[in-house]
Amino acid sequence: MRIPAADLRAQHAGLRDELIEAFRRVLDSSAFINGEDVAAFEREFAAFCAVPHAVAVANGTDALALALRVAGVGPGDAVALPAFTFAATAEAVCHVGARPVLVDVDPQTCNIDPQALRDSLRRERVRALIPVHLYGQPAAMDDVVALAREHDAATVIEDAAQAHGARYRGRRAGSLGTLACFSFYPTKNLGALGDAGAITTTNADLAERLRALRDHGQSRKYEHAVVGFNSRLDSIQAAALRIKLRHVDEWNRRRRVIAQRYRDELRDARGITLLTERAECEAVYHLFVVRCDERDSLRRYLDERGIATSIHYPIPLHAQPAFAAIAAGRFPQAELLARQVVALPMYPELSEASVEAVCLAVREWSAARRS
Ligand SMILES: *Cc1c(COP(=O)(O)O)cnc(C)c1O
Repeated sequence: MRIPAADLRAQHAGLRDELIEAFRRVLDSSAFINGEDVAAFEREFAAFCAVPHAVAVANGTDALALALRVAGVGPGDAVALPAFTFAATAEAVCHVGARPVLVDVDPQTCNIDPQALRDSLRRERVRALIPVHLYGQPAAMDDVVALAREHDAATVIEDAAQAHGARYRGRRAGSLGTLACFSFYPTKNLGALGDAGAITTTNADLAERLRALRDHGQSRKYEHAVVGFNSRLDSIQAAALRIKLRHVDEWNRRRRVIAQRYRDELRDARGITLLTERAECEAVYHLFVVRCDERDSLRRYLDERGIATSIHYPIPLHAQPAFAAIAAGRFPQAELLARQVVALPMYPELSEASVEAVCLAVREWSAARRS
């Protein structure tokens, strides 16, 4: 029996009838785009994040690009973001014509390093900052928000694509900056059955502008105040997301239990370094990532025992051909992490027996590696 890195089949098995009933309802309503389910999902997701407004869009990358737009970021502007993240964080900055300013990360958390951010803000004027809550752990938001204030009141936009439900000093991801962007890509902690995304904010004016921007810049039908986009959410995705949203807290609790098991069992495994969960954070373990100098050997050992692993991400942004020219620099921690990180299986339906099997295999590898 193989243990996959993630398992959507297991998640959907228990929700099948409810999902099919929701599809039937949307089919019969014929309101396929921005229908009632979209408005209801926006209300429910805003409540989940403890903010007044959520605006549903087509995907997480659009969420970032539209958030940058309403924050007034455009050509000639610079935007700070970590050098170690999924490409979409930097892509969105390029899509609005701005320039990504990469910042090195803290190898203990894989999140943006406040000291490195302070240093780059001394050199560069940035219009916005995008802290990423990588793997489900909130970035050092107190430092990020304070630095943003000190430096030309730059707008803080959370990339919360991996952190649905995570908390920082008791507050939810999505409520920690001026704007926050979520992806509901199927494997995220809250995933649609296709592409979907959302932006949350406490600012009613920004929310209203986002609603217009995602729908061809319309404030009313066929009245186009601004040049907009087509980045609407399908009702069928909203209907599925509403069903799944009710389970996210319980799924995240289970992810945290699994993470604690991994921590307890792998703490002393030589050749493996655990990441730190900071005291002010309640991470939601989108992924459970460890660092390992002999990553290929570990992965091969686990694969031979039917255990899948994955790498997020093997290449830091500044080494990607897409960004090399516009975001050059040296980011030693990002480079180190790109060589070391490996994600162990993590999904709420992962059984106790499977967690135990993974731990045993990692410990065996650890014990065998020097002999
Ligand atoms: C998934 C993800 C995105 C982009 O989301 P899409 O919905 O795939 O466009 C952005 N940032 C991070 C950190 C992500 O993990």
